[in-house]
Formats: sequence, structure tokens, C-alpha cells
Amino acid sequence: MKAFAYVDARNEKEAVAALKFAGGVAMPLAGGQDLLARMKDYVAAPDRLVNVKGALDTTIVATPDGGLKIGAAMKIVDLMENAQVQRLYPAVIAASGEIGTPQIRNQGTIGGNINQRPRCWYFRNEEFVCYKKGGNRCFSPAGENQFHAIFGNNGPSHIVHPSSLAVPFVAYGAKFRVASASGEHEVPAADYFTMPTLRNVQKENVLGDDELLTHVILPPPGNVKSGHYEVRYKASHDWPLAFATVVLAMNGNTIQSARVVLGAVAPVPWRSEDAERALAGKPLNEQTATEAADAAIRAAQPLNRNGYKVQIARTSVKRAILQAAGQPVERI
Ligand SMILES: Cc1cc2nc3c(=O)[nH]c(=O)nc-3n(C[C@H](O)[C@H](O)[C@H](O)COP(=O)(O)OP(=O)(O)OC[C@H]3O[C@@H](n4cnc5c(N)ncnc54)[C@H](O)[C@@H]3O)c2cc1C
Ligand code: SF4
Repeated sequence: MKAFAYVDARNEKEAVAALKFAGGVAMPLAGGQDLLARMKDYVAAPDRLVNVKGALDTTIVATPDGGLKIGAAMKIVDLMENAQVQRLYPAVIAASGEIGTPQIRNQGTIGGNINQRPRCWYFRNEEFVCYKKGGNRCFSPAGENQFHAIFGNNGPSHIVHPSSLAVPFVAYGAKFRVASASGEHEVPAADYFTMPTLRNVQKENVLGDDELLTHVILPPPGNVKSGHYEVRYKASHDWPLAFATVVLAMNGNTIQSARVVLGAVAPVPWRSEDAERALAGKPLNEQTATEAADAAIRAAQPLNRNGYKVQIARTSVKRAILQAAGQPVERI
């Protein structure tokens, strides 16, 4: 591992000041599960690590409008066990509880989870210098693309976004607070994640090199029903193959409007407007769920080895809707 300087920031101001570093590359360190692994694999080589665990907020507070403001240094396990989140945002709880293992949830932070880098095995192997590492090609279309994208496959990269929390945060309409030495601003979670282009392919979001994600701000959920369904190759210790969060604004048993967001299927949390249109104005029942699930996969463009994920995505959407309806759904 390359030698690096280490800054133990005591507060947000110190952390953002330390990230503005003229002497090379500075990176925030939270639980370290992703960043330290990349450093050990020679995929990341920062000159300075800025420990943000003691600098950023670890709490959840209610906002005046009835939503919640969640600190980015909070551990996943603490999010999962929070009574207010359990009451207001059950899909966030469902996503948190399926991440990795108890040990991973006990070490990983919300900020680290949202900003973790892709799991593409070419990206994770130092020998493959692909677009994301400054190279001029992507190895996945002609390679081992079993776990890659089935939506948004225009390239140049075909990753799936690795964060499980990002999907319910987008579905509930969260905003992310971002801070740097020059100020702070909020970005809708839906606009935070970026589709790859040749100009921005080395990043997965809008965060600048000297910026930190400090809070997730969830709006009051209103009269909604929500569901979250994940499918994994094995039950734990792994990322999902495909999953979905649905948030349905209800009027009696009629769905007024819907947000349907899929995970592990595209370079960003993938919102399906086709599925949302199929749900609006319909009764919440199995037929509606089936029609929405069919609509959700209409635009799928799988690669040559991951066509199997299309059906898994369909099942995830259907079962997330049935779960929102209060129906028991089988775990895969
Ligand atoms: C076996 C295994 C299974 C897993 N399964 C899942 C899963 O199913 N779903 C899932 O979502 N994740 C899964 N994970 C990933 C795990 O949840 C993440 O590695 C973890 O959440 C990262 O959090 P961390 O705090 O350790 O991040 P770190 O490794 O400290 O940071 C991750 C990245 O985010 C940056 N960063 C950290 N904090 C901030 C911040 N506040 N602002 C800006 N950038 C920041 C860092 O610079 C780094 O690049 C799994 C991990 C393992 C090892
Ligand atoms: S999918 Fe993205 S990360 Fe993987 S090889 Fe292609 S460019 Fe690299």
C-alpha cells in the first residue's frame, strides 16, 4: 500500500478543510470497509485520508415538517434500529437489514454506503485499466457481465450502483446535504447519482473531490404504503442481484401516484416511470402489481450474460408492491 498522511478530523469544518488538499489526492474515510479494501487491492492510492467518523453527525433528528435528518456518520445498524425510521420509512429499514452481515452493518456508515465504489470485478482488479480507472475501454460487454446492468446500458460503463440504501432514499424523495470548505447545499437524492458519460465516468455521483455528504434529509412520508424486495444469490454476505423499493401515495385503496425505484440493475438507482404510470389511478391488488412489474422491465437491455436478471427485477417490483399491499410474499 502506498504511504499516506492521516487526518483525524474532529468536526465538519476540520474535515472539509483537510479534504481541500493541494498536495495530492485526499479521501474521506468512514467505516473503511470499501476504501481500505480498494487501497489494499491497489485500486485507490490516496495521499491523505481524512477520518470523518468523529467529525460528522451520528444522530437522527426530527425536522420541523415531520421528516427526519440523518447524520452521514451514523452506522447502518443504528439506522436499522431507530424507532422513528421504523415507523416512518419501513423500506429504509428493510434495505438496511439486508446489507452484508451484522459485522458489516456494525462498521459501515450511511455516508460510506451511499458513496461506496462499484463492485465490477474489472474495476476491483488492478490489472484491468478500464474507463473508470482512466483507461480507454470497458471490459464488461465482451466479458463476464453476469452481475452488470440491464438498464441504461449505453455505456461507457455498465456497472450497477452498489448502494442498497440509495434506492429507498430516492424512492422516499430524500435530499442529501453536501458540505465543502466553500459552503453547503442540498441535492435531491435522485440527482445525486450520475449516469456514466466519457466526461464523468470515473465518478458515480455529483460530489466534488473536496465535498462531503453530511446528512440525508427525508421528507414526511404522507399517506403512503411502501414495500422493498431484494433477491440475492445467497442469503447474506453479498450484494443483491436485483431489488426494488416502491412508495405508493394512497387514496383509500386507490394508488394516487407511485415511485418505483430498482437497485442493482443500472449505474444509478433506476426509477421506472413506466411502472409508476401503470400504478397511478389503479386499485392496489395483484393484477395491478403484475401489470406494473411487466411495465418495469419493458425498457430492459441486458448484456449477453445477464438476461436472467430481467425476470428477477420483474419479481422484485411485483413483490415490493404486494408487500406494500400488506400481502405475505415469499423470500427467495
Ligand atoms: C461482504 C460484503 C457484503 C456487502 N453487502 C452490501 C449490500 O448488500 N448492500 C450494500 O449497500 N452494501 C453492501 N456492502 C458494502 C458495505 O455496506 C459498504 O462497504 C459500507 O457501507 C461502506 O461503508 P464504510 O463506512 O465502511 O465506507 P468507507 O469504506 O469508509 O467509504 C466508502 C467510500 O465512500 C467515501 N465516503 C465515506 N464517507 C463519505 C461521506 N460522508 N461523504 C462522501 N464520501 C464518503 C469514501 O471516501 C470511500 O470512497 C457489503 C460489503 C461487504 C464487505
Ligand atoms: S463496467 Fe465500468 S467499472 Fe466495469 S470494466 Fe466497464 S468501465 Fe470498468
